[in-house]
Amino acid sequence: NSAPAQVVAEAPAVTSRPIPAVLGADLEVPVKGGRLVGYANLDYAASAPCLEPVNAAVAAALPAYSSVHRGAGYASQLTTARYEQARHTVRAFVGARPDDAVIFTRNTTDATNLLAGCLPAGTTTVVFDTEHHASLLPWQQSVRLAPPAFPGAAVRAADEALAGIDGPKLLVVTAASNVTGELWPIAALAHIAHRHGARILVDAAQLVPHRQLNLTALDLDYVAFSGHKLYAPFGAGVLVGRRDWLAEGEPYLKGGGAVRSVGDTTEWHDDPEPRHEAGTPNVLGAIALAAACDALTATGWTALVREEERLIARLRSGLASIEGVRELSLWGDDHPRVGIVSFTVAGYSAREVAEVLSGEYGIGVRDGKFCAHPFVRHLLGAPERRSSDGVSDTGANEGRSGRDHRHAGGCEDGTASAVRASIGIGTTQEHVDRLIEALRDLVAR
Ligand code: PLP
Repeated sequence: NSAPAQVVAEAPAVTSRPIPAVLGADLEVPVKGGRLVGYANLDYAASAPCLEPVNAAVAAALPAYSSVHRGAGYASQLTTARYEQARHTVRAFVGARPDDAVIFTRNTTDATNLLAGCLPAGTTTVVFDTEHHASLLPWQQSVRLAPPAFPGAAVRAADEALAGIDGPKLLVVTAASNVTGELWPIAALAHIAHRHGARILVDAAQLVPHRQLNLTALDLDYVAFSGHKLYAPFGAGVLVGRRDWLAEGEPYLKGGGAVRSVGDTTEWHDDPEPRHEAGTPNVLGAIALAAACDALTATGWTALVREEERLIARLRSGLASIEGVRELSLWGDDHPRVGIVSFTVAGYSAREVAEVLSGEYGIGVRDGKFCAHPFVRHLLGAPERRSSDGVSDTGANEGRSGRDHRHAGGCEDGTASAVRASIGIGTTQEHVDRLIEALRDLVAR
């Protein structure tokens, strides 16, 4: 399982370029009465809009593409070079070790499922109930930990759980919560995991659009994230991390590219990248994802974080000033967080709030449990649902129209839930102020 000779891409020089523009910044949407207003997109945590440089990189790649790793023709060679350069860019972006695998997937969910299929036999996963379903559900054998009351309690709970497990073990944790935006103590958790001979997977889907991540410095074994939350369009994500489990795991998809030779027996590649990337990959998705990494790095994290912190502080203090609006938080007001805030509005269901914000004010937010059902129930003070017949919803925050009835599908179960506002590049102070004013109006009705 020797690692292929890989050129480690140099991290692009930090030049502090201006913060890039997002596509769709001038979108206008109809509101009640037929008026058009500028769209206030406060739903970045679901999918962030595409950056201009990402659009440019995809446009530049479109005129000449062909299959990767297969053809001798010019377009094929060019496409292969671009695809592998994207891999190097991602490697540098997350500060991966030179011999880490960088596997392109469809999204974070795909990446966690890929790793789940490569765990050594008998691996026990330790996972907090605060996780997004993408990191909560793929594991065959897991120990689930209750939401910890403070960051140190997370480390202690992981310590105790890992100590009680024999055999291979994996700790799974989010770096930044998709519900509260709160940052998790991933360095301390990595340290504890390694002390028990475990590995750690960090779900960085909500961290990488907001903060620099350095896998080597934090001593993380695996990270996963999605391009569409990182200002690239849909369809590409990554799993980065240690090669050995990935080199031995069952190929994620079986087909062309993953095999070295097929005859009476099949000989799979033992380099993780070809092994788990069978079929024609999403080259444009990888190019877009890498272009987003480059654009963020070139802008510089200091400028990005400074602007985000200014806006999120304004948003949170505005919410705190409205009676009946309650921000959801696991670790309290002062715990550091990225630009994601979830809240409830007394007397209204989350769906009612989201519909009013959209239909009357042109504001896009998310409502529901954000594919993190156990965590949102915990934050709302709702008991766990014990069966599929809906026995145990509290009815908390059900709103004027009773239960929060939702369409089927998505990640929602139709019970009490929350509203989430999330920001990023392209969010303006006017968007934030409009949300606060709209909520003030709503509460006053
Ligand atoms: N993990 C976190 C923390 C998320 O917020 C999300 C998406 O909301 C996911 C994983 C899943 O991402 P995707 O839908 O791109 O697979």
